[in-house]
Amino acid sequence: MEQNKDINQFDIPLAKRRYLKNPNSILLKKLLIFSPFIFLIFSIASLLLIRNVELDPISNLDFKTDRNPDNRILGHLPYTEISREKLVLIEPNIEVHIDMRDSLLKMREEARKDGIYLVFLSGYRSINLQNDIFFSLKSIRNQVAAERARVSAPPGYSEHSTGFAIDFGDATQRETDFETEFENTDAFKWLIKNAAKFHFKLSFNKNNKYIDYEPWHWRYEGSIEALKVFEASNNYKNYN
Ligand SMILES: [Zn+2]
Repeated sequence: MEQNKDINQFDIPLAKRRYLKNPNSILLKKLLIFSPFIFLIFSIASLLLIRNVELDPISNLDFKTDRNPDNRILGHLPYTEISREKLVLIEPNIEVHIDMRDSLLKMREEARKDGIYLVFLSGYRSINLQNDIFFSLKSIRNQVAAERARVSAPPGYSEHSTGFAIDFGDATQRETDFETEFENTDAFKWLIKNAAKFHFKLSFNKNNKYIDYEPWHWRYEGSIEALKVFEASNNYKNYN
């Protein structure tokens, strides 16, 4: 008995079961319970985000390209200068791309049969000449660049440097040369009706947001090379 008492005296006390009543501890407990779920949700969200970035790089770049698709300057697309060996002189001061010569001359001939006298005002223009036309006239006319660009392309951005562009006048109404009034001439009306037969297209129509309407300025789209040159322009919306 005496021995038992001694044993009880040195007995190891039973661990007391304590309940965590502290609100912070309860939150911690809940966090511990839910942590695998939270981890899972974050993992799924991260995966979705990564997949989006990897699978859709084009749409992610859209915000950049939308602001300046095709590297335009003041609404004009860039065009490289045609190599000299592809240029042919069709009359004094008028050189054009060899691909469009026959079609252009044929069109003038057909127009003449209908009593329409087309005049060629400007064909190929070098980047140097375009530089003068843009910057010298800009200065003489006291225009800011955006204002100038509405009526003339900056050097390196003109369809004329490709040899595939041509400006027309009406021989019976020369006062309308390079004027919007050219649209009232018989020559223009004939072009609207017939130019597509010869693969010519009006470049800057009334809907263009950046460049003023130029009824005299047409481009040739009758060869693969020409179509390649104007691919960006044909695929790009110039309005709204
Ligand atoms: Zn032109």
